[in-house]
Parts: sequence; structure tokens; C-alpha cells
Amino acid sequence: MDFSLSEKTQTVLGMIDDFVARELMPMEEDFLRLPFDSLMPEIEKKRAKVRQMGLWAPGHPKELGGMGLDLVGLGLVSEALGGTPLGHFVFGCHAPDAGNIEILHEHGTPEQKERWLVPLVAGEIRSCFSMTEVELPGSNPVMMDTTAVKDGDDYVINGQKWYTTAADGAAFAVVMAVTDAEAPPHRRASMIIVPTDTPGFDLVRNISVMGHAGEGWASHAEILYHSCRVPQSNVLGPEGSGFAIAQERLAPGRIHHCMRWIGICNRAFDLMCDRANSRTIAPGKVLGERDIVRAWIAESAAEISAARLMTLHTAWKIDQQGWRAAQQDISMIKFTVANTMQRVVDRALQVHGGLGMTDDTLLAFFFRHERAARIYDGADEVHKTSLGRRVLRRYA
Ligand SMILES: Cc1cc2nc3c(=O)[nH]c(=O)nc-3n(C[C@H](O)[C@H](O)[C@H](O)COP(=O)(O)OP(=O)(O)OC[C@H]3O[C@@H](n4cnc5c(N)ncnc54)[C@H](O)[C@@H]3O)c2cc1C
Repeated sequence: MDFSLSEKTQTVLGMIDDFVARELMPMEEDFLRLPFDSLMPEIEKKRAKVRQMGLWAPGHPKELGGMGLDLVGLGLVSEALGGTPLGHFVFGCHAPDAGNIEILHEHGTPEQKERWLVPLVAGEIRSCFSMTEVELPGSNPVMMDTTAVKDGDDYVINGQKWYTTAADGAAFAVVMAVTDAEAPPHRRASMIIVPTDTPGFDLVRNISVMGHAGEGWASHAEILYHSCRVPQSNVLGPEGSGFAIAQERLAPGRIHHCMRWIGICNRAFDLMCDRANSRTIAPGKVLGERDIVRAWIAESAAEISAARLMTLHTAWKIDQQGWRAAQQDISMIKFTVANTMQRVVDRALQVHGGLGMTDDTLLAFFFRHERAARIYDGADEVHKTSLGRRVLRRYA
């Protein structure tokens, strides 16, 4: 494998690093303090600059107005943007829209693309993905209560979902619902596009997560679908293909997330090292002179480097051979990088002492909100079980 970067990618990464430091980091204090929606006018100004620089939507196809980077390139961009919580959103490559763009691009009809995909890539609207249910295990989503029953030319959807990230203010949801209860488990459900102004789409609440309900893009909603009627033409891909499409959506999404987490590791690491070098702990002695702190820094440097290379290798393998060939690697990076991030953020917070617990640095935000990395897109245990099973099969 060869991870050497083209001149173009190096230039792009340099421009992104510069933009993040100059334009986005100064917004972080407001991000931590103010409601997300109040930042939107400033965010739109930054987005306009990103578009002017030709850096908008780095992972999306060129024909849609994106940069059309491959997964390795997108991974590196994701790392560069991940160091600040606003990075992906300002550059138009944020979850959950990025995943919805991919599946609309792959499976949408010309009408669906015209109505939803084009404005989504342009950043004119937002979307959400509504699969997880309150009463049933998200880790085994074939157990699903939400139904979409045909009635005339329509589907009538009933069900209760939660953790529909960014539903607040979204123009549409991609909803996973059972369309054929008699079909084999993995063919029972379909993805259906539901405009959020459809009667019966009821956003019950933004769930309080780690003490914050948030709003707009930075929120997670509980939603009741109550006799919610949409045309059957809103189904995405063939009926019954919901889980197959979800699988496709998650594979590149994990590279995107893992490299974003590496970006968080890098940022936490920088904060940790700066603090270790500057915090006087005894007359004439700074924290970084203590062996234990040096050991945390050494361990963090090695763990970040290992997690980063593992993720880039997986991205490279998907680029070369497709995601199916990289299934084991995808499981490996998902739990490895999530746990690396948790350890690095925890050490950085510890080095900051009481300051680490405040919102005067980003560390407490990372500690609260990125804990979820070990749960969404497949909990650690699900990936470990699946990886262990596949490995053992080779020895059977
Ligand atoms: C911040 C955040 C954002 C999210 N965004 C979205 C979104 O936009 N759209 C959406 O549809 N969902 C979203 N989710 C939901 C997420 O996908 C689910 O939380 C996840 O799939 C786990 O499902 P669950 O919460 O029902 O936990 P459960 O399935 O009940 O699992 C609970 C725990 O059991 C253990 N476990 C599960 N299966 C196994 C197993 N096979 N072997 C051993 N142990 C196991 C794991 O430790 C797991 O954490 C989000 C979640 C979070 C936290």
C-alpha cells in the first residue's frame, strides 16, 4: 500500500488546517456557550468562504458539486476537520447528511435526487436518519416495530423512534420501517423518505444527552410516526432493501467517523502537551517533567499513530477492493479508534485537573459527547463478537 499524498491533497489539507485554525477555532467558545442555531448566520459566512476556496463537500461526487475525493483523501480531510466540533458541518460533509447523500446518490430515483439530493449536497437543507427505536435493541435492528403499510398509492407509517440525530430543523427523514413482516428478517424493512412537515411526523422532544438537549443539527430527537402518510414513490431503492442499503451506508461512514475521532485525538493531544509544558506543579517544575505524564503522552502518541494507520489502511482497502473485502478491518477500527479516543481524551482531561472539567477547554465537551462513539454505528461488543466469529471461522 502507498499512502503518499498527491500535491493536490497536500495543498487541500494545508488549506483546511489553516482555515480551521484561523476561522473555526475562534468560534469554539461560542459553540460551547450558545445555542447552536444562534451560530448559523456566522456558520453560513464561513460556508461561503469554504465554497469560494473550492473545498465544499469534499467527499461527495464532483457531478453533485463536491470534490469527489477517494476514501483515503476523505479520511485525511476528516481528520483535519475533526479537531474542531464545527469542522465537518462548515465544510458540508457532516453526519447524518453525508450518509443520506451517499444512499440517495446510489439508490434515489431521478425525482428523489432532484427534490432531496441536490439541495442536500448544496447545504440548503438538512436531513436525518430514523432507524433506532425506543423499545427494541438498536444493536439488532431487524427487531423493529415501526411499520409502513400500503394504502392506495401511499405508505402509512406508524412507530416510535429515538436518537434521530439532527431531526430538529431537518427537511426530511430517511425512515426505516417494516414493509413486509412475512419476509426473511433482513428483507423485512425498507427506507422511506418522509418530509418532516408531513402530518403525523411528530418530533416529541430533543432528548437530553449528557445534560444537553441541544437543538438544530446538534440534537437527537424522539419521533412518533403517527399514521404518517407518504407516497409509495418515496421508497428508497427496492422495497425490502433497507438493511442492505444501511450496511452500505455504514461502511464508508465508519472511515469518516474514525478519522474524525483521530482529529479529536490530535486536538486533545495538543492540549495535553501544551498544558504539560506550561503548568507549574512545583517551584521550577512543570507537569511534563513527571514520568507518569510523559508516559501518558508517549502512550497516547503511539496509540493515535497505530489507530490512524489502521484506519487509513482500511480506507485504502475499501478504495481498492470494496467494503465487503474490508469488513473485518471495519469492525477492528470501529472499536479500536473509539477506545483510543476515549483514553486520549481522558488523559488530556486528567492532565488539566479541575480546568479539564470546565467548559473553558473543549475537553469536557469531547468527554461528554464522544463517549457515544462506543455505542452508535455498532456497539464495541457487536463488532468484537462479529470480528471474533469471522476470525475463528478461518481456523475451523
Ligand atoms: C449520540 C448518538 C447518536 C445516534 N444517532 C442515531 C441516528 O441518527 N439514527 C438512528 O437510527 N440511531 C442513532 N443512534 C442510535 C444507535 O444506533 C443505537 O444506540 C445503537 O445501535 C445501540 O442500540 P441501543 O441503544 O438500542 O442499545 P442495545 O441494542 O439495547 O444494546 C445495549 C448494549 O448491549 C450490548 N450489546 C448489544 N448487542 C450485543 C451483543 N451482540 N453481544 C454483546 N453485547 C451486546 C452493548 O454493550 C450495547 O451498548 C444514536 C445513538 C447515539 C448514542
